[in-house]
Amino acid sequence: MTVQDILRKALDGGRVSVGEGVRLYHEAGLFDLGAAANALCVQKNPESRARATFVVDRNINYTNTCYTLCKFCAFYRLPGDKKEGYVRTNEEIFQKIEELTAIGGTQVLLQGGHNPELGIEYYESLVRAVKERFPEVHVHSFSASEVWHIAKVSKLSVREVLTRLKNMGLNSLPGGGAEILVDRVRRVVSPLKTKTAEYFEVHRAAHEIGLRSTSTMVYGLGETIEERMMHFDAYRRLQDETGGFRAFIPWSFESESTEMKMPRQTGSEYLRMIALSRILLDNIAHLQAGWVTEGPKLSQVALGFGADDFGGILMEENVVSATKSDKLYAGVTKDEAIRLISEIGKIPVQRNTNYEVVKIHSPEACPATA
Ligand code: SF4
Repeated sequence: MTVQDILRKALDGGRVSVGEGVRLYHEAGLFDLGAAANALCVQKNPESRARATFVVDRNINYTNTCYTLCKFCAFYRLPGDKKEGYVRTNEEIFQKIEELTAIGGTQVLLQGGHNPELGIEYYESLVRAVKERFPEVHVHSFSASEVWHIAKVSKLSVREVLTRLKNMGLNSLPGGGAEILVDRVRRVVSPLKTKTAEYFEVHRAAHEIGLRSTSTMVYGLGETIEERMMHFDAYRRLQDETGGFRAFIPWSFESESTEMKMPRQTGSEYLRMIALSRILLDNIAHLQAGWVTEGPKLSQVALGFGADDFGGILMEENVVSATKSDKLYAGVTKDEAIRLISEIGKIPVQRNTNYEVVKIHSPEACPATA
């Protein structure tokens, strides 16, 4: 099979194997990959021909205390660090959500370290308090490794943890903590974190009780290209069974201020990975273009390489920015998201977490373009 045959197979609805994905990575031209990925994006989301969606959201890190010591993480502080370790109060969290709702935001992403002091009662009371105060806000919170941590600390099953949090108002789970879902890589970069099977056990249980989730990848951690394709394959196998993943979000690893010193990934590598995400993940509807590590301008290009969604404006991103890299990009405001989408000739559409339309923006309505 030539690479053109493999791309044709994908466009005709066939599944690209791990080995074929490796061949596409090494042998296909970047623009051939982009064209195929864009066509597949339009097949899945016909409206993406004319528009791109984004969500107004906020990341809130409720604690930075963590005992998991991932080598790629510059965010955590060890248990007992009285100087820099924190647990946010409910009032602090409420104020941040008020700032989100004041600009029409709809999604809050509560994420934190694995704090040994925090068990299920803390998480239940946090979700309940947020939902009581902000019933309209979608609580898209707690990565698989946090859920695993809660289960361990509280001596509960993963399903019990998820059910109890759902009963308090948890709406969906983010895909964070995936990095590369191949245990050889995880043993090297995050030996104390959830292994691949545990990560998927959490998402499977979430889907089984009616919580949808997202899926992610952080590439550039020393994995092989085959391992990246295995990561895609692992996600699509669970998706075949449950259909619970709404979207996929890949981004590159930023190693500054972390224990790991890895070469920075290039823009063309990112576009190749975005396109391959769309081509390999044939059963996940939405693909998000990230801007924190890749920059808003490359995100604009990614919207023509298979991504249909600009992702979140992420008011207050603390985890990647903890690397203190000067190569990262400062926050994107709602107006800037509208402008960036308008500039590529698409209609900016604010969506909620369920990908339902919140507002269709006209470019003229954006002060940034005036
Ligand atoms: S990535 Fe998450 S689990 Fe790993 S050390 Fe950082 S906060 Fe802890």
